[in-house]
Amino acid sequence: MRKVAIIEGDGIGPEVIRSAVDVLRYISADLEMVSADMGQGSYRRNGSYLPQGTIDLLKESDAALFGAITSPTTYDPSYRSPLLQLRREFDLYANVRPVKRLHPSIGLVELDVLIVRENTEGMYTGSEREVPGGVITERKVSERACRRIVDKAIELCRAEGRGSITCVHKSNVLRRSDGMFREIFYERVKDSGLQGRDLLVDAAAAALVLQPRTQECFVTLNLYGDILSDEAAALVGGLGFAPSANIGEGFALFEPTHGSAPDIAGRGIANPIAAILSGAMMLRYLGMGSKAQKIEAAIPAALGQGIRTPDAGGRLSTTEFTRGYLEVLSTF
Ligand code: ATP
Repeated sequence: MRKVAIIEGDGIGPEVIRSAVDVLRYISADLEMVSADMGQGSYRRNGSYLPQGTIDLLKESDAALFGAITSPTTYDPSYRSPLLQLRREFDLYANVRPVKRLHPSIGLVELDVLIVRENTEGMYTGSEREVPGGVITERKVSERACRRIVDKAIELCRAEGRGSITCVHKSNVLRRSDGMFREIFYERVKDSGLQGRDLLVDAAAAALVLQPRTQECFVTLNLYGDILSDEAAALVGGLGFAPSANIGEGFALFEPTHGSAPDIAGRGIANPIAAILSGAMMLRYLGMGSKAQKIEAAIPAALGQGIRTPDAGGRLSTTEFTRGYLEVLSTF
């Protein structure tokens, strides 16, 4: 029995996570799922965006599935993003986003790329200081972080049968930091059995649109990965289709790429596919690859039968989609 924490969060988080939990319950009896609180709702209920009880539960769990949280709209100097806190607390250094077109009628290009992004440093150190006339932001790139993100990307490519890997950087401008990342990449990929190549981040953004079929895996630094993965998700139909994982040494947190979508929250029309696929990634991480594969294979089949929420051109509510999808899944 594996223990997983379920954090619904805010906005559409609870709506899509309930669908994902229904799917996980259906496919596996080997999961002990325990609920935990986080986000704005948690702040209202417990006075904390990230209660200590949640951190304690996560420490006892093998993994977590998380929906989304709404950040405060007014400036609060004491606010610290609970997600960033978790990334730090559990050293979730690898952000992994598989982006795949799930049906020919959805999205713009034929894409199946794995984006592996360094999650702990780069531009997102949060270290900014005011100087006369402006602000200086510190950007950190360490050898250790470069090595472990490249190694993780190589491991994932091998596990998924991807033959090539592209290092995405901006070493023509950031010669020392990105130059080092590129060098480390070629050192590590040399004996991996994978074909290694590199692209400047601007060329990589264009390649996703112009040569989508030849992109198998991007390994990159924080900011570049953030932007490229949203671009890639848009190319395959939008954020409702894009799952993700934040992976550390002994723990991982899985979440749909989208946010809490306050504009549609409570209307029951959110697309739960990204959350369901995040659940499948979690199963694969827990060693239940064949169950993950069934969940993934049933999505294009359901879409092909017109089982779709409005963002995918359909008319079903989140719960109607889930019911229809589970029927399709039962045939796999
Ligand atoms: P947040 O501030 O929490 O990030 P947001 O609205 O700025 O929220 P997203 O939640 O990522 O950002 O949503 C961006 C747009 O995509 C919104 O218009 C939203 O309705 C739409 N969207 C996001 N996720 C889904 C989904 N699962 N199903 C349907 N539409 C979605």
